[in-house]
Amino acid sequence: MTAPQIVLNNGVSIPQLGFGVFQIEPEDTKAAVLAALEAGYRHIDGAQGYRNEREVGEAIAESGIDPAEIFLTSKLSNAHLTYDEAHRAIDQTIVDAGVKTPDLFLLHWPLPTVRDYMIVWRAVEEAYRDGIFPAVGVSNFHIPHLERLLGDSDIVPAVNQIELHPYLSQKPIRDFDEAHGIVTEAWSPIGQGLLLKDDVIGGIAAELGRTPAQVVLRWHLQSGIVVFPKSSTPERMRENIALFDFELTADQMAAIDALNRDQRTGMDPDTFRYKF
Ligand code: NAD
Repeated sequence: MTAPQIVLNNGVSIPQLGFGVFQIEPEDTKAAVLAALEAGYRHIDGAQGYRNEREVGEAIAESGIDPAEIFLTSKLSNAHLTYDEAHRAIDQTIVDAGVKTPDLFLLHWPLPTVRDYMIVWRAVEEAYRDGIFPAVGVSNFHIPHLERLLGDSDIVPAVNQIELHPYLSQKPIRDFDEAHGIVTEAWSPIGQGLLLKDDVIGGIAAELGRTPAQVVLRWHLQSGIVVFPKSSTPERMRENIALFDFELTADQMAAIDALNRDQRTGMDPDTFRYKF
């Protein structure tokens, strides 16, 4: 069940499969993370905006697993628009995370209509230079956002976390990321369940004796994408990690690649302006 590791552009390794904690209520988070760790996940994708960082840290502390064996991500909340606010928020994350300082810290959204993201990126850069976070990166960055950042920063983001699934395969951004040494991570990897009703996915799942979710997640892994499905039920957590004893053929990969229709299930980073 062990997920392969991907080496980021500064030598830090990240497990290619993780567990996402968006939309898990704070009071349910500790149990969910403990169940995910029990199922074998060793990578947790969290964020300040999910309002459950403290509970993620408590679960890690209670699990009995060496925190160094767990890869944790956090993200700077959209509520912080200035350099000083970003600094304070980073300090708060370190307190909330408890036994486990995040291994990776991301700028959650560019919010180009609200602020200049370079102002808060400076605080993230500084936290990286100070050795607070082993790696830093961005989320929801389109190519022009990345071009601006790369042109004005010495630090190349280690990852870019974007909405990505077979209906929104994001090939241009993935190619840009790869060309610049940035690992692409997928959020909503099964399109919040939308992909599970697809006939092509269903057909491949039947051929392989696997579930549609496993087929979609396997497509991500074989495409070199880092992925962290979310589920609150231990049975689905186990289903979503049972991906390392089968493979999709080149034809099956091509059939899933052909499903792209640039369909979002979430917000568009060019216009999104919500301050969570
Ligand atoms: P997802 O594609 O993982 O879908 C989650 C939904 O699918 C849930 O309703 C869950 O019950 C269901 N599901 C999960 N496994 C299933 C299975 N095996 N069979 C049937 N249904 C199943 O979408 P998501 O939760 O939006 O994204 C996953 C993670 O990505 C989040 O938890 C978070 O960590 C991250 N994320 C990041 C951003 C960002 O802006 N950076 C945005 C959204 C999500």
